[in-house]
Amino acid sequence: MMSFNVANLIGRKPLSGLGCALALTALGGCVETPNFSAESAVTATGQLASVGAPEAVVLFIGDGMGVSTVTAGRIYAGQKLGLAGEEHLLSFEQFPDVALVKTYNTDMQVPDSAGTMSAIVTGIKTRAGVLSIAPSAPRGDCKAALGAEVETLMEALEVRGFKTGVVSTATITHATPGANYSHSADRNWESDADMPEAARAAGCRDIAQQLVEFAASTPGSDGVDVILGGGRAHFFPDSVPDSEYPDKTGKRRDGRDLTAEWLAGADNRTYVWNTEQFEAAAGGSGQVLGLFEPSHMQFDADRNTTATGEPSLAAMTEFAINKLKAMSSGKPFLLIVEGGRIDHAHHGNNAYRAMEDTVALDAAVHRATEMLSDNALLLVTADHSHTFTISGYPKRGNPLLGLVRGPDGELMKDLNGQPYTTLGYANGSSAAAEAAARAKNGGKPITLTDEMVQAPNYQQTSSVPMRSETHAGEDVSAYAIGPGAAAVRGVMEQNRLYNVMADVLSEALRQPAGR
Ligand SMILES: [Zn+2]
Repeated sequence: MMSFNVANLIGRKPLSGLGCALALTALGGCVETPNFSAESAVTATGQLASVGAPEAVVLFIGDGMGVSTVTAGRIYAGQKLGLAGEEHLLSFEQFPDVALVKTYNTDMQVPDSAGTMSAIVTGIKTRAGVLSIAPSAPRGDCKAALGAEVETLMEALEVRGFKTGVVSTATITHATPGANYSHSADRNWESDADMPEAARAAGCRDIAQQLVEFAASTPGSDGVDVILGGGRAHFFPDSVPDSEYPDKTGKRRDGRDLTAEWLAGADNRTYVWNTEQFEAAAGGSGQVLGLFEPSHMQFDADRNTTATGEPSLAAMTEFAINKLKAMSSGKPFLLIVEGGRIDHAHHGNNAYRAMEDTVALDAAVHRATEMLSDNALLLVTADHSHTFTISGYPKRGNPLLGLVRGPDGELMKDLNGQPYTTLGYANGSSAAAEAAARAKNGGKPITLTDEMVQAPNYQQTSSVPMRSETHAGEDVSAYAIGPGAAAVRGVMEQNRLYNVMADVLSEALRQPAGR
């Protein structure tokens, strides 16, 4: 277990420290200063110290978890604990090393998840929309992409016999997980049905196919060892009904059942698609493929928590760490964990689900800190930000999802005399919805109530009308603990996060690659 205890850090007891007592005791909360004992791997001269083999490298991506999402998530999580909220810290905010990360793609000022995740896992910044392909190949150009593949950290470890895992609440073929094990000229080529005929004819393979063929097409590798997420429709033919929703079918046009092919590829493999099967597959050291929804897994706020439902991100993280530890017999392993739906909630201007999924990611990170030693590098970051804002002068402890109330509890009003919320977006679908509601109301604005804005499906206000809220281009933060963590500092290009992980794994990466 890592040498700090999150429970201690969010203790409610006021400390004797003057600043703390003055600032926070009136509100009933006070935060102890974290006392980290994790060894820094960087010497005073900035040289990387010889750290030997780490226990593991675990990379957590909050998809779309920009700085405002972390701040709001911290307040929201704190308020769920009965605190005012602002004084709270998420588990990863207590890590000792932090950097700001520049997220632009080689061709975009405001990036997408494909180019950004490719940068993090290959060390090469590239275009928006492509998965672990060099920027020389235009998006969607199969021929240019063939031969422009850039090796990922997961591939480099797999060909050297190390164990790896990928976990996401999005489809497992989505941009963030997909960038680890596939090379695709277009992030949307999740199954053969999503690909142009010409691309398939030119020899490009869909992303699901690349995942199940990973061992066969990567000499020396036994395949990604733990694979947990959504998106099973991309693995089944369009003639086969879904295991959970009989009115739905798979999506593949080539008639292939990729789960059956994956199971036949090696001994001791297990495929699961609900919580009961997932729990039965825990323990032991066989490879596991879990696909819990035809498309993305549910938002954590909506998740079916029964045996026939789907596991939480924390449960999947725990499962993957246990498996990878058991398979690795002391050798370092790599695990990638994505909270994939923070992004989707933001795209829908729905702060409530974005907050709940941020809390779910925080729980997964916390679980990992409990399970791993000081000799594991944990890195938590986002691929990009969203246009999400926290504003309007709410008083301390004001409910994060609520209407803004000022220092004396008075309802704050805008220039039109209307109440407004703390959270909002620069753009998105709510702008058009609000305009339509106003038109129906004889041109007058709809007066918001606390009940309206705290409803789970409420869409926060946005300014520029769009079909879907967009990403944002400001820096995201990165948080690190463990060997090599001290290299996470200052303002970093996003692709340099690759070097932080590769440096710690340098001994492993010096091993000869298999054939
Ligand atoms: Zn997005």
